[in-house]
Amino acid sequence: MENVKPDIKELLGILKDPSPDDVKLIARAFEFAKYAHEGQKRFSGEDYIIHPFETAKTLAHLNLDAKTISAGLLHDVCEDNESIDKRTLKKKFGEEIAFMVDGVTKLGKLRYKGIEREIENLRKMFLAMAKDIRVVLIRLADRLHNMRTLKYVREDKQIRIAHETMQIYAPLANRLGIGEIKGQLEDLSFMYLQPGEYKKVMQLMKGKYEQKEKELEKVQREINEMLAQGGVKDARVDSRVKFIYSLYKKLKKPEIDMDINKVYDLIAIRIRVDTIEECYKILGMIHKKWRPLPGKIKDYIALPKPNGYQSLHTTVFATNGKITEIQIRTQKMHEEAEHGIAAHWAYTESGKPKTGGKLNSRLAWVNQLIEWQKGASQSKDFIEDLTIDFFKDRVFCFTPKGDVIDLPEGASTVDFAYAVHSQIGDSATGATVNGKFVSLNTELKNGDIVEIQTQKNKKPSMEWLKHTKTSFAKKCIRSSLKKEGFF
Ligand code: MN
Repeated sequence: MENVKPDIKELLGILKDPSPDDVKLIARAFEFAKYAHEGQKRFSGEDYIIHPFETAKTLAHLNLDAKTISAGLLHDVCEDNESIDKRTLKKKFGEEIAFMVDGVTKLGKLRYKGIEREIENLRKMFLAMAKDIRVVLIRLADRLHNMRTLKYVREDKQIRIAHETMQIYAPLANRLGIGEIKGQLEDLSFMYLQPGEYKKVMQLMKGKYEQKEKELEKVQREINEMLAQGGVKDARVDSRVKFIYSLYKKLKKPEIDMDINKVYDLIAIRIRVDTIEECYKILGMIHKKWRPLPGKIKDYIALPKPNGYQSLHTTVFATNGKITEIQIRTQKMHEEAEHGIAAHWAYTESGKPKTGGKLNSRLAWVNQLIEWQKGASQSKDFIEDLTIDFFKDRVFCFTPKGDVIDLPEGASTVDFAYAVHSQIGDSATGATVNGKFVSLNTELKNGDIVEIQTQKNKKPSMEWLKHTKTSFAKKCIRSSLKKEGFF
């Protein structure tokens, strides 16, 4: 393989408007990383520096700050060069960068070995995230490049790493709302985990894609005309192709049954505007022009997905009856969907934005994050202080399978049971926390692994209401009690 030398100009070129100090810091980190990895090679035969360099590029694309990008360049220096430790880094690059590199190195030591380790790994991730979310973002960028170069790794290792990526890293990216990285991680893992299925999907896609693209050019032109006539200015109309793994999951649905002609969003048209009002206005214009498919209109603006995703989706019979999905969103929603970080934590279980005193401050925090990820350099103070207060009033617990259940502080095993499923809540008889039997009204702590015992025809008790924190659990308990004739 040809040995490409990384060029710092390429990395700096991604940054929006860096200060001279930013440029100096990143250049210094780059030189130090080159020195530390001198003579080391990747499995691909390339110079090792390519890896931290690509990691840093991903971080730059996410509009992260100069310190995080520098930590990305330095993320493997302690692991690969014994003469460099945290103290050295602290002296050369300061406390924050040393802390981030140390955090990434520690996370890197975790290996996927069955379910127990997976939970342990996730727990550590969340704890790292609570301290400084940037550590986890570096780890995601690191993993993305490792996945892109996985073909050079031994086969048994490929499977282990792809599995771990599918189980831990892709869901984590999803939870952080970073759609772009989640999609890439899933597609790369899928290719290694189910090579036969992957090939099948690619083949199905091949023929269909070109046909669809031609159809859509015409639809796109008509939308542009429609918008101009309707007086909508500054709308951007383009299209996106579905990620492979996401397409695969859709093809597997019984109603689709691997028939790609039934997948209407293989390529979807995307309209981006400035305001929410314009989103709804355009949806109306489209439905006036083309008949929508019943049941296919999704308002994720009023009811965002649990990870915070917002957009309007509709599927219409466009010109000549060509069925086409159209997505309408504001530019802000678009950026959140691609790079978004943690924005979803501002939403309640019901999917509606939170309001009210304490919750407003949480929203403010999220808004700060959103401002920050736009790369606004005035938010530098904020990023230096990203020790996330926000996590202080949440507890993250785990199902025995490693699914994360996000609860408010003070929540009990009953809240947990209802958060998993209302039926599990209603029929709960007991619980174990970290393998020990506990009462159903036990308050949960961060990182607890909770298993709920159930029994058919069991009913909730009035007592539970005193020990539940989530409105969802309270609502379910009350409605069950009502059926029993209480209240
Ligand atoms: Mn690495």
